[in-house]
Amino acid sequence: MNYETLYRQSIEQPEAFWAEQARAIDWHKPFDRVLEYDQPPFRRWFAGGETNLCFNAVDRHLAERGEQLALAAISTETGERKHYTYRELHREVNAFAAVLVELGVGRGDRVVIYMPNMAEAVFAVLACARIGAIHSVVFGGFAAHNLALRIDDARAKLVICADAGMRAGKVIRYKPLLDAAIEQAQFPPEHVLVVSRGLDPELTLVEGRDLDYATLKARHLDAQVPVAWLESNEPSYLLYTSGTTGKPKGVQRDVGGHAVALALSMRTVFDVGPGQVMFSTSDVGWAVGHSYNIYGPLLVGATSLLYEGTPLNPDPGIWWQLCAEYGVRTMFSSPTAIRVLKKQDPAWLRKHALPDFRWLFLAGEPLDEPTARWISEGLGKPVIDNYWQTETGWPVLCLHPGLGLKPVKFGSPGLPNFGYKLRVINEVTGQDAAANEKGVLVAQPPLPPGCLTTVWNDDERFLRSYFGHFNELLYSSLDWAIRDDDGYTFILGRTDDVINVAGHRLGTREIEEAVATHSSVAEAAVIGVQDEVKGQVPVVFATLKSPLSEKSARHAAALALQQRVVDQLGAVARPARVYLVGALPKTRSGKLLRRSIQALAETRDAGDLSTLDDPNALEDIRTSLARGADAGS
Ligand code: AMP
Repeated sequence: MNYETLYRQSIEQPEAFWAEQARAIDWHKPFDRVLEYDQPPFRRWFAGGETNLCFNAVDRHLAERGEQLALAAISTETGERKHYTYRELHREVNAFAAVLVELGVGRGDRVVIYMPNMAEAVFAVLACARIGAIHSVVFGGFAAHNLALRIDDARAKLVICADAGMRAGKVIRYKPLLDAAIEQAQFPPEHVLVVSRGLDPELTLVEGRDLDYATLKARHLDAQVPVAWLESNEPSYLLYTSGTTGKPKGVQRDVGGHAVALALSMRTVFDVGPGQVMFSTSDVGWAVGHSYNIYGPLLVGATSLLYEGTPLNPDPGIWWQLCAEYGVRTMFSSPTAIRVLKKQDPAWLRKHALPDFRWLFLAGEPLDEPTARWISEGLGKPVIDNYWQTETGWPVLCLHPGLGLKPVKFGSPGLPNFGYKLRVINEVTGQDAAANEKGVLVAQPPLPPGCLTTVWNDDERFLRSYFGHFNELLYSSLDWAIRDDDGYTFILGRTDDVINVAGHRLGTREIEEAVATHSSVAEAAVIGVQDEVKGQVPVVFATLKSPLSEKSARHAAALALQQRVVDQLGAVARPARVYLVGALPKTRSGKLLRRSIQALAETRDAGDLSTLDDPNALEDIRTSLARGADAGS
């Protein structure tokens, strides 16, 4: 069937469409209704149905593909490669689940997972899913404060952590960061389960609280843990993401809808089926990691490659070497990663023959045409942009190579995915924008299966953050967009104060709050400034309580602010530059004019300044920019 027919059906006859798609997974109890929509925009897909993500990802493949490779966890940092067939994966997941049960974790309990891309992270996720515990993976690049916020919001019963990760040959100790987070947390977990790879010789366990996974696992090597059959709409996991406030939102996903959407996308979008190999370079801590390193490939009986390392070590051909060795069909990465590779000799792209390689998908941030062309021509393979959000869990805009590739238009992620009723709305009038006219990208509810069901513990915030922007009940993506005459949508950037650094989403408010915790700081504004490799980088403008005039003192103070952000939020949020300024531009009502600062930093027009409280503030920013940063360059 072609894309147009299927898409039309998904919009015009959603219940028939999704009932058909639901056949791709196993149900313990069939659903009573495909869609319950009594309380818009809340919706319940496959209401009354009972299923389990772990069963669908692992157990049901045992009969047909028990000896097939399910997971290859490759670390070019530790030099280890670990391979698991579906049968071995089943054994590992059962052992892990048995340990969780021993620790008193059960259905509905929250488990925070703080681990790098290692096989045990996948086991931990699937073990939670097996027993109906709600996992909340926290990206390893986040530091103590960020971790503490997530532990508290989820009221985690257990935290599972690695002793350490590695990046570019450097050991990054996870456990001390977790200890610091627990120190800060108002609701510390009962236990910490530590999976050690022996990377941290100084690893210490807190008596009574911390437990060594290997020791507990030894008691459960052959455990068989029954799966918990969950109603389709029970929460499967939480994944925190940045918004406009300093407090991240816990995106909540369901069970049945999530499984059905991912299974559909594997076939129609990513073109990966049973026995085929998918390599996503994402970290398990991001939405892509959840959907296309863990659940998606395993739900369809494919093989998933998990990679710990950089794209440059041991050499810039490593990813393509792995694609050749494992027969990768579909690869998924980010524009930033490709821009990193672009600084290397393009001969690396041709070093390994890739007869099985079909598609390179890139997502998470705008894909610029030079990068798309460079990689596509270099590899001699099609590059497929696709647009989505942590909230949606699977692509919103994409091309569907699995159904026959549509013409690629550089700069556009493509056409609406199944079930997404997308519109582009004028932000002032609330009317539909004409073709080629800029507006806000919105989706008319009910959102399709796979998208968030609510914000954890905060339905109000779910409504306010996503559905409170227009008179009509519409899900706002908070992205600017243009739709052309052929229906291709172009994404033009966020409408809110979220920035995108190397495909990682950061809230400027979170960084501002971290800077403001430093006792020297009066006030801070953080903006995202264009960067050649990372897309955007955070830049700090801060006023000090006692202004400093001496250059070296300013430098020291600015460095301290940079470090404060790294300590609180993690290296991922490190400000590229810090400027100490005399005043920050604000409106008369006290609103920070981040966009005007950003315009100046990118040498654009700062816009209408008639509402400015202190007209000298922008001049001050201009002077600081001309003088150069106090830290960073
Ligand atoms: P995240 O929730 O971290 O995946 O970030 C989602 C945001 O990243 C979106 O709201 C967009 O602003 C941006 N984004 C993701 N994919 C794309 C893409 N293919 N093109 C342009 N922007 C994208």
